[in-house]
Amino acid sequence: MKKAFFGVICLWLAVLCLSFFWNFHSLLSNQEKLILQTAKTLFDQMIITRSWNSFHNGVYVKVTDQTKPNPYLVDPERDLQCQGFSLTKINPALMTREISDMTGKELGARFHVSGLNPMNPHNKPDEWEKKALEEFSKKITIEKSEFILDGEDHYFIFMKGLTSEASCLVCHTEKEYTSDGIIGGISIKIFNPPKPDFFPILTGHLIIGGFGFIIILFSGIKLIKAYETIQHQAAFDVLTHLPNRRYFNERMDMELKRAQRLKTPISVIMADIDHFKAYNDFYGHDKGDEVLVRVAGAIKATLQRPVDFCARYGGEEFIVVLPDTNEQGAVHVVQQILEQVRALNVRHERSMVAEFVTISLGIFSDANSDHETLIKNADTALYQAKSNGKNRFEVFRSAFDKPVIGF
Ligand code: GH3
Ligand code: MG
Ligand code: MG
Repeated sequence: MKKAFFGVICLWLAVLCLSFFWNFHSLLSNQEKLILQTAKTLFDQMIITRSWNSFHNGVYVKVTDQTKPNPYLVDPERDLQCQGFSLTKINPALMTREISDMTGKELGARFHVSGLNPMNPHNKPDEWEKKALEEFSKKITIEKSEFILDGEDHYFIFMKGLTSEASCLVCHTEKEYTSDGIIGGISIKIFNPPKPDFFPILTGHLIIGGFGFIIILFSGIKLIKAYETIQHQAAFDVLTHLPNRRYFNERMDMELKRAQRLKTPISVIMADIDHFKAYNDFYGHDKGDEVLVRVAGAIKATLQRPVDFCARYGGEEFIVVLPDTNEQGAVHVVQQILEQVRALNVRHERSMVAEFVTISLGIFSDANSDHETLIKNADTALYQAKSNGKNRFEVFRSAFDKPVIGF
């Protein structure tokens, strides 16, 4: 029962751990999906903005201190004069870089346009981007993402290849720029992506786990107590607290097997209170119960060795088993039992053999008899003791042996 109880506790802990790690894992993976989705949305927005720019073959902006002509843009129409203003063309690549500078400050995200052979050294890929671009051009994958912990820097990087469209070929006249070919890629770095908050999961599990543990503990203790009570009631007599007949039979078989294995004698003693019916009739059943308890106590107190044991065999009958004890030893114990019961000095006015409560006993000792024979012969000896006047013991003898009677 205790094993089952610990089993349930272990199972509960296992379920809790499993649930915690499952929740932990889903939270982590949802967070990753969310960051990836954010990066993809940013990428798509950037592509739309670039398409708009390339659809217009670049857009002209006023030249200022911050906005200088793009030195890498080879275009005879790059710079224009208009009503006293200098205008310069912003192509998709420069626009991407400028937006990236802005988003870097505002959103903690950075775009980077890069290609394997960039015209602008700013667009040179880093190692991670170079690997991704190579995979894109070999068509191994069309996009790549990863969480990177680089010293103090923790960021999420997403990259997708850019395909050249007809509008790109207006400016990009190099031979590697073919329609629908991969011309490079845009990477998006999201710095310090938000970490999932495990605190609610942890506290939730601790609270539920704690409650479950307390419930299991309390109900387990109650169950164990109830189980022990049932077990005790199944094996022990409620009135005398001596083992009952069921327990006796199991223990007797065990001792008998041991005796046969070790080739040692075993002695069985049957005891029965004399004129007990008369006692009950005269003093009442409750007083009779008290006598049973006291006689049981006297018999138990006589047994000194841990292997010896006694049981309530029937109404006012007791049985004693003395493993590794021969007839001589059993006689010694029986004499002590007789004395102990006499010493109780319980008055019995209706006894025909004494003024106080007495018992009669029968002994049988053997090394080779079986369970039934041992009991039957001890009972026969008891019957002889009763027939011969009660308040005494007799040792079982076969028809040819001389009887031994003791007082
Ligand atoms: P004998 O000397 O030959 O043994 O006669 P006896 O009266 O002791 O034996 P008998 O078998 O005629 O009666 C046994 C009595 O034991 C009958 C019953 O009232 C009593 N008895 C059995 N169990 C209990 C019990 O649990 N409590 C009480 N108070 N009496 C019991
Ligand atoms: Mg009887
Ligand atoms: Mg009796």
